[in-house]
Amino acid sequence: MSLVEQMDTVTDASAGTVDRHATTQTFESTNPASGAVVGVFPVHDTEAVEETVARARTAAARWAELGFDGRRARLAAYRGYLARRMNELADLVHRENGKPHADAILEITLAVDHLAWAGAHARKTLGPRRVKAGMLAANHAAYLEYQPLGVVGVIGPWNYPVFTPMGSIAYALAAGNAVVFKPSEYTPAVGAWLAAAWRAAVPDCEDAFQVVTGYGETGAALCRARVGKLAFTGSAPTGRKVMATCAETLTPVLMELGGKDAMIVDDDADVVAAADAAVWGAMSNAGQTCIGIERVYATSAVYDRFVAEVTEQVRRLRPGSDDEATYGPMTMASQGDIVRRHVSDAAANGRVVRGEADPNLFPSENFLAPAVLLDVPEDSPAIQEETFGPTLAITKVRDAEEALERANATSYGLAGSVFTKSKARGLELARRMRSGMTSVNSVLTFASVPALPFGGVGESGFGRIHGEDGLKEFTRAKAITRQKYALPVNLMSFSRPASATDAVARVMGMIHGRHR
Ligand code: NAD
Repeated sequence: MSLVEQMDTVTDASAGTVDRHATTQTFESTNPASGAVVGVFPVHDTEAVEETVARARTAAARWAELGFDGRRARLAAYRGYLARRMNELADLVHRENGKPHADAILEITLAVDHLAWAGAHARKTLGPRRVKAGMLAANHAAYLEYQPLGVVGVIGPWNYPVFTPMGSIAYALAAGNAVVFKPSEYTPAVGAWLAAAWRAAVPDCEDAFQVVTGYGETGAALCRARVGKLAFTGSAPTGRKVMATCAETLTPVLMELGGKDAMIVDDDADVVAAADAAVWGAMSNAGQTCIGIERVYATSAVYDRFVAEVTEQVRRLRPGSDDEATYGPMTMASQGDIVRRHVSDAAANGRVVRGEADPNLFPSENFLAPAVLLDVPEDSPAIQEETFGPTLAITKVRDAEEALERANATSYGLAGSVFTKSKARGLELARRMRSGMTSVNSVLTFASVPALPFGGVGESGFGRIHGEDGLKEFTRAKAITRQKYALPVNLMSFSRPASATDAVARVMGMIHGRHR
């Protein structure tokens, strides 16, 4: 019996881990392409969330005791389980989020790779090590280690319902924490599936990863449940609310928020490759990608060729729910209204080129035609606000410097891309781009390099998942010193002779005083 079938047997009341609570209120998750019900899930209230966190706290002690090797083995069993059932999970992602099955496979592949990296690198990154004690404590040994926080609460979005939360879950677990995950109310079935898979793959520590379901109030209850840290991925407005709620209990937060990512296409760029990357970066997943390309600044030397290539490629795109569709519906119907507002504003103030597929043949109004927005003013919503739809705004600029200036002129700063044949210029522009991540001559690549940290600046949030920084994010640094032998004079004692500090002042003067 597949996990989905097992879950179906309990969805009338609940699903996955979530069946242990006597919560009466439920909600449905529906297929955004057809409206069909995917599952029915409990709305977990404060009491249910607190119970779950309490169980996770007990599990966290055992999970921490397993040590790096014990956890690595269990994380390997989990990723093996996911890898063997990739098609089943991809089918569920397709039904609940709407993206094509093939894109769901790519998403799960990334998550599995991050699980492998986090498990394999936790000891080296976080384990105890000696550090130099330095001159003032030369008679001591100094040790540094990164200890788990206990229980980490994870609140996730719906757009990449496996990859995005796994960026926190995998790294928090590898660092020795238990996790309670609140998936988006648009993708609870995927969240419940991930937790059920954990219980099946890691039966001796099943409460180390649990799921609670519901709306924002359930998320807020998790913020108040005195977890060691709250890792939030979602929009900036909700991020503000989460921070405010976490402030009540001084719970530290990690914020992975929205973006308005830009691509710079320089004079010497491979225009065909840049167009291909821009179209994928903007339109895949129906544009519902936090690190998706929403704006392109192309220099006047390449602008006409770039626009011609993009519009040619966009003609070949067709949204739908069938196997040949290039992207799916808007997962959240209300997002469609935001996209339509941005596109109609762009049409009034610039030019809009739509894909050639006939919208009358789209399965419903939840499927949006791809739209290329040309030379819309910089203060328009399509340039300033996160659109999160299958659109791409292209603007002509004098040169790469002007492109960079405009790329950096938003409150967001998540990621971006630069296309140029010059290695030095590419790296220089990438460094100066105000974002947490930049790919040169590709898009989104940093997300598939597990060793690289993932996160933003400004309104795109703070803190990092992935890589060594992502592991450390879910720990607290612990400093220990051990005296190896006593010195004849102990400076940190009331018994020190008065002359001792004079001697210290003389020595420090000789060592540091010569620097001007
Ligand atoms: P959202 O902010 O509406 O919701 C995110 C989660 O927060 C959901 O699980 C929701 O139930 C929960 N929530 C809502 N109100 C809450 C409250 N008051 N307290 C606690 N939790 C609450 O975001 P969304 O629409 O699900 O996701 C889309 C957004 O996420 C976009 O802005 C996108 O850019 C962003 N995103 C960012 C990243 C990243 O890594 N930076 C990745 C994916 C998506």
